[in-house]
Amino acid sequence: MNLNKYTRRESIEVAIGTTKIGGSNPIAVQSMTNTATADVAASVAQTKRIADAGAPIVRLTAQGKKEGEAFAQIIPQLRAEGYNTAIVADIHFVPEIASIAADYVDKVRINPGNYRTEGGEFEALIEKCRKRGVALRIGVNHGSLARHIFDKYGDTPQGMVASAMEFLERCVKADFNQVVVSMKSSNTRVMVHAYRLLVEAMESAGMKFPIHLGVTEAGNGIEGRIKSAVGIGALLADGIGDTIRVSLTEAPENEVPVAQMLVEHFSERSGEFCVLHPERYFSTEYSRRSDIQTPIIHSEITSEFKVIEALSNNPTAEWRAAILNNDNIKEPTVIRRRYNDTEPEKVAVKAAADMGQLLLDGLADGVWVDAPNISQKDVEEIELLILQASRVRISRTEYIACPSCGRTLYDIEGTLAQIKARTSHLKGLKIGVMGCIVNGPGEMADADYGYVGAAAGKITLYKGREVVCRNIPQNQALDRLVELIKQNGDWIEQC
Ligand code: SF4
Repeated sequence: MNLNKYTRRESIEVAIGTTKIGGSNPIAVQSMTNTATADVAASVAQTKRIADAGAPIVRLTAQGKKEGEAFAQIIPQLRAEGYNTAIVADIHFVPEIASIAADYVDKVRINPGNYRTEGGEFEALIEKCRKRGVALRIGVNHGSLARHIFDKYGDTPQGMVASAMEFLERCVKADFNQVVVSMKSSNTRVMVHAYRLLVEAMESAGMKFPIHLGVTEAGNGIEGRIKSAVGIGALLADGIGDTIRVSLTEAPENEVPVAQMLVEHFSERSGEFCVLHPERYFSTEYSRRSDIQTPIIHSEITSEFKVIEALSNNPTAEWRAAILNNDNIKEPTVIRRRYNDTEPEKVAVKAAADMGQLLLDGLADGVWVDAPNISQKDVEEIELLILQASRVRISRTEYIACPSCGRTLYDIEGTLAQIKARTSHLKGLKIGVMGCIVNGPGEMADADYGYVGAAAGKITLYKGREVVCRNIPQNQALDRLVELIKQNGDWIEQC
């Protein structure tokens, strides 16, 4: 390996309609609609907005037959209006819908947790995809693993990889290679470890399938952007990832510029300019290099810390090399980098993408975002959120909020804002805010409390994984959530 060069992991090319990913193609940005897929006019309009924002791939959920059949109208309408956007059907619980959607779409995403290991259902889908030239994504999600995998591995990165490999091997056996794979989680550490383990497993099996990256339920605003950038950036920094989706609890077209920012950020470091790239350091278990309990932000630096400033255009590798290859560094370390951007969002995304990996791997003990063109208040907020998204210092409530999709049963963006207004002063709690009862409870995996859409106008509240109040009217749900937090002794009054 050339240690002086940033390289992307080698992958084969997969065609999703006219869009190609993997191989030597640039990293493709994608997003997902949150309209009811069966509402053809709304779905076409939103797909166009996402495509206009610059995403060549758009995914729509297909939870039932009528959604699967809706592609028969959605796709011709888009094509008639000149949109060649690659259209992907997202299948979760009903494998038969994959077969319906495969008659129309360019790619089908399945969750292997919902397929039987025997019976030929998956092989029949492969045959259909092969015939029509449809690509397939094996999309594993932390929190929805198949029973036999869960029993053997628990809900772990190892289990996620075993689940993906089982299905990738079935694709190889059927001699079908138009396959993409993903390992999503809302926990950035789980997500990064799962993808790294996947890369190792695929390398040992001689597989070169392209990889789709994403952090699920990242939330909204600056927090959502930072959380996505930490997880996605930690992998892109090592050349892992062929297509990305930044999931935000906002209008889906807002996801596109953030994803583009990440792609651009890493495209700048290709070529010979990167001065350092040590042997790959693929930690798949978390441990801290120093015994500092709470990683710091720059205003908290004292003389016991050593500051390492990265100056090259491959900062992640530069910091990593400085820390790993230098036995003389005994002190806890703060990683520093100058960002001259004038928009806080850009500083946040770039710094999170560069610095997150060092925190996720326990190598750095603090961050210094040196951004002279934004306010100190914004800098400190960004630094704290990077530590929080990397799970090394939890200083505020974390919201595990789904981006919403055609299954969402209420206005999730507005509701999340109301929940934040009442609870954001609480420290260290994780609150799941999920659109539907089908996937929500599994995907908010490690939340302390959950607010989940159960039916139209009805919410079910969770404490951990247990249902505490079922089907309460939505206009009472936030008060009941606050009551529940109080009953469990996790409430503090706002000062
Ligand atoms: S949890 Fe949210 S994004 Fe996931 S399927 Fe349900 S509504 Fe859609």
